[in-house]
Formats: sequence, C-alpha cells, structure tokens
Amino acid sequence: MHSYHKFNTTKASKHKKIVSLMAGSLLLFQTFLTGNSVLAQQKNQPITFSDLLTSLENGEVKRVSIDRSTNIAYVYLVGENQAQPRKVKLFNDNNPELISKIREKKVDFAMESSAASTAALLNTMQLGVLLLLIIGLFILIKKSANSAAGAMNFGKSRAKFQMEATTGVEFKDVAGIEEAKEELQEVVVFLKTPDKFTAVGAKIPRGVLLVGPPGTGKTLLAKAIAGEAEVPFFSISGSEFVEMFVGVGASRVRDLFKKAKENAPCLVFIDEIDAVGRQRGTGIGGGNDEREQTLNQLLTEMDGFEGNTGIIVIAATNRPDVLDSALLRPGRFDRQVIVDYPDLNGRLGILDVHAATKKIAPEVSLNTIAQRTPGFSGADLANLLNEAAILTVRRRKEAITMSEIDAAIDRVIAGMEGTPLVDSKSKRLIAYHEIGHAIVGTFTKGHDPVEKVTLIPRGQARGLTWFTPDEEQGLVSKSQLFAHITGLLGGRAAEDVIFGDDEITTGAGNDIERVTTLTRQMVTKFGMSTLGPIALEGEEQPLFLGNDNVNRSEYSQEIAEKIDLQVRKIVFQCYENAKKIIRENRGLIDNLVDLLIEKETIEGDILRQIVTNYSQKQSILTK
Ligand code: ADP
Ligand code: MG
Ligand code: ZN
Repeated sequence: MHSYHKFNTTKASKHKKIVSLMAGSLLLFQTFLTGNSVLAQQKNQPITFSDLLTSLENGEVKRVSIDRSTNIAYVYLVGENQAQPRKVKLFNDNNPELISKIREKKVDFAMESSAASTAALLNTMQLGVLLLLIIGLFILIKKSANSAAGAMNFGKSRAKFQMEATTGVEFKDVAGIEEAKEELQEVVVFLKTPDKFTAVGAKIPRGVLLVGPPGTGKTLLAKAIAGEAEVPFFSISGSEFVEMFVGVGASRVRDLFKKAKENAPCLVFIDEIDAVGRQRGTGIGGGNDEREQTLNQLLTEMDGFEGNTGIIVIAATNRPDVLDSALLRPGRFDRQVIVDYPDLNGRLGILDVHAATKKIAPEVSLNTIAQRTPGFSGADLANLLNEAAILTVRRRKEAITMSEIDAAIDRVIAGMEGTPLVDSKSKRLIAYHEIGHAIVGTFTKGHDPVEKVTLIPRGQARGLTWFTPDEEQGLVSKSQLFAHITGLLGGRAAEDVIFGDDEITTGAGNDIERVTTLTRQMVTKFGMSTLGPIALEGEEQPLFLGNDNVNRSEYSQEIAEKIDLQVRKIVFQCYENAKKIIRENRGLIDNLVDLLIEKETIEGDILRQIVTNYSQKQSILTK
C-alpha cells in the first residue's frame, strides 16, 4: 500500500450530527403542540392604528411590541390582561410617527420576531415533515404490496439472473493474474470441446471458486472464460438470493439451472457466494431458513447434473473462510483459484489494457504509474485511468498527462480533495502534525522517503503526508517496522512537544490505530519482541479476509499480559525517539510549518532540500 498519514476528523463528530438531527426533529414535534397554544392565547380584539396613537397620547399604553416578520404591533394596555395584548396591523417597517410617539411617552417598546410567527414558520415546516412521512408510508405500502404480489408467483421465475449470449471479454482483457488465467485455460477447453473429455472418461470439475479481494477481476475473469469458450454467461449474485420470503431463493436457483441446462454448454457465475453459502447453523438466534434452503437447492443442483453436461459453475468470494464445508466437497466447488492483488508487472499489464482505449500523452510512463500504485486492485487502476481521463476533459487538454494521473492517484488513495482550512490555530496544529510525520520519517533510518506533505484535505483527512515506498517490498525488516512505527507517531509527537500534552488532538487516531495493529503483529506474528519467535496469533489467514481478529485468545491471560507489555514497550520507545527528533529539529520544523501554511503543499524534493540547507547552516553556526 502506498503509505500515507492522514490527520483525520473523528467519527464521533458524524455521530454527533445524527444525534443532533434527531433531537431537532423531536423539538419540532414539541413546538407543534405548544405553538398552537401560543396562537390561542392571542385571540384578542384588534384595534386600529389611530386608536393606538390615541391610546398612546392618553397614556393608556403600557408596552408595545412590534413583530417585524408579520408587521403586527402588540399593544399592552394599562389595566388589561397582559397575556392578551391588542393587535394592530402596521403597513411598513418603520413607522416614524408611531416610534417617535412611543419615545415621547416613554412607553416600553420592543422589536422582535414573535413566538407566534416562529410558531407559524415551524408549523409549515412540520407540515412538510408530515407530508414527507405520509409519502414515505405510501411508498412503503406500495413496495410491500409489490413484493407480496411477487411472492404470489414466485414459482414462475421473475428472472433475477442475467444472461449474456456472448460476453465479449477475452483473456487478453484480463491482466496481472496470470496464474489464475492459466489454471482456468482448461475450463475453456472443456467448455469448447466437452466430447474430448467424455471420450476418455475424464471427469471435469463442475465448480470453481474464485477467491480474492474485491476489484481484482474475478467477474471479469469469469466473463473472459465464457467469452473465450464462446458460450453463454449466466450470472447471479448471492445477495440477490437472500429475499424476504422463504422459498424464493431456492426457486431462483432451480430456474437458473433449468435455463443453464437448456443452453449448455454454458457458464454459470455466482457472485458473492458467501451471502448464501455461509456455514449453516451458526447464525445467532436461529439459522436463516431462507438462506439454508437456497444453499441446499444449490447443492442439489450441483450434484444433479450428471457427468459432463457442459455446465461449469464459477463462484466468487472474498470470504472463503465462512463458506459451508458442504460447498467445497468434491464434485462441487472443489477447485479454488486465488485471484490476488497484482504485483508490479501485473499492474503494468492492467494499465496497458486500460490505457489502450484512452488518449495518453507520449511522455506518460505506465511503468512509473505501476510503481506508484502498490496495493491497487485492477478495478482501482481502471478507475484511476478513468479519473485521469475525466480530469483531462475538465482541464480542456488533448491527452492525459502525468499531472492528471498524479491527481487521480491521490484521489483514488485518499478520496476527494476538499477546500483547505483558513489560517487558524487548528490549521497550524495540523501543519505541525504533518511536518512531524515528514521530519521524523526523514530523520529515521530505514523509513520511506517523503513524497509530499499537504494541508489540502481529502476524504476524512484534514492533512496528509505521503511517502513513496522505494520498491515492491516482499520482506520487511524489524528496523524498517520500527522506522515505520516511529514515523507514524511523528504527528502526535509534534503535537505533544509543540503544543503540550493538554493540547494533543483526536487527529492522531488513525495513526495510533495503525501503530497498535502493526506493533501487535510484530509481537504475536513476526516474533520480533523478547517473547521470541513464537506465533501467538491464531491460524494464518490471507490478508484480504478482513481483520476480524476472530481467532485471538488462543493464549492464556498470562501471555496476553506479556504481549501487552511488549507492545507498549515498542510503542513507547518509538514515541520517545519521535519526540527526540522533533525537539532536536524545532527550528527546522517551525520554518517548514510556516512554508506549509503559506503554500499548502510541499513536495518531497523541496522538503529534502530545505532539510539539507538547514543542517548545513546549523553546522556552520556551531563551528
Ligand atoms: P471483482 O469481481 O473481483 O470484484 P471485477 O471483475 O468486477 O472485480 O473488476 C472490476 C473492473 O476492474 C473490471 O471490469 C475491469 O475493468 C477492472 N479490472 C479488475 N481486474 C482487472 C484485471 N486483472 N485486468 C484488467 N482489468 C481489471
Ligand atoms: Mg465481481
Ligand atoms: Zn498523522
């Protein structure tokens, strides 16, 4: 992954927003009740403007309050119920005559937006809310009526699967996952010439499970197989099986396979199979009947087609660990093909595929892009080139240049660019935080070089420091991990040293999370602490399976405490190192922060230049 540190806004603020919204709607309903009673109280006899002037003249008026929004004066007469003022309709805002009269008689006077008018406004708002509610209800009723109707004829397929006679995708459109492609060549041959296999009595796999993280080209690969074999492509997504009514999913599976048999040879693709294929009977609070029925039907169908009917089922998932073991038995999805993130060459290949349809300036090197995008999936890369193309149009350029590509890479990694903060204390703090990362990173041996530091927010982040990984790193050494942790802590260290412990912020939350995960792994997985080379984590799982941490607690309480101690030891040591670097380079950091606030972004080269100049000057001064 292209490593970067972001100073992010807390999730709590989002949460708060929702809560206050909810409170807002409660308030609305409360004022709905009281608003009316305010109106009721003001049932009073109106008087005319000249009556008012006369009463003023005669000293009968105690107080006048003018409502600017309705242009009504509320006149409180001496000796009358003060809760029921008289109303006088005024014709324009400033009634100089009235006001001077009021002044002259020294009558209490107020200009305000009355409760009544606010209540009226609120009432219209409530009406809007009510209307929305009613409309919402109607939609709901209609929807459930529709699905009820659907349930009536569920046996008859509302074909919820897609069929493509030809996919138009070929193997050459799929790049970067060569091993998976190779393994699946055989499937193509089978679909093309099933007879050859039948003749010699060879058994053909019926089901292939594509396992890999999202966006790596599983769907694309399945389509390419159908395309290469020139057979129809049936597809359905596991999440579409999970319906409201029991039996719908199962009947859909039946329909799907019926159609497939009619069209054999063909390829059936089941996306997100984990949605139906989860281990049965593990659901909390009773299993999901619907899902189990669907899964059973699927198993029945897969067992049902005898020998070489010419149907191959390909399923895709990123959670093979949750699949029901029955699915993986021989004769079902007994072949698993891993489709993983592409490596450098893979990314280059994928970029080649997608660049072919785009106009790219000759000086752009796809190789450079591939180098800058470790951890990108095929979909990310496709998206990257597309974003760059859109940006090119927006900038009215003829062809995509490196500048658009850079912008697109940043955007794919860290989200949309936002507007920078105006100069304020918090901008200064964020600047120190980011420069903290950059300087600690630069002064720590074994750390990746800074690519740039920026205060332009992106996505959730308010400031970012980007580092360029210098090569595709297969193995990472202990000292590199230490350097990485120290760099991650550089932001918080700067906050702490410069603003003091009381002023440290939530902005370091993401850094700290990553530090903790990484350090834990050093201790429990990589054997890099004094606990020695012992694996203390549960069984090894591919990284993309989500960090559920399901199988922790394989160790005793005593070991758990030891682990915590080791983790803390590493983190504290790195934090002290980071703070030391900040303290020793305070002057340099101050200069860089000023520059960053002025320019918003500092490129890595410029940063390194400034660092070198500064240390030269320092060494001359100290001589
Ligand atoms: P998955 O099914 O694994 O989530 P998809 O096959 O839907 O991923 O990929 C989405 C898009 O990303 C594809 O349509 C294609 O444009 C692009 N893509 C993904 N992987 C590759 C690849 N290996 N080669 C070329 N393009 C790819
Ligand atoms: Mg897919
Ligand atoms: Zn940070």
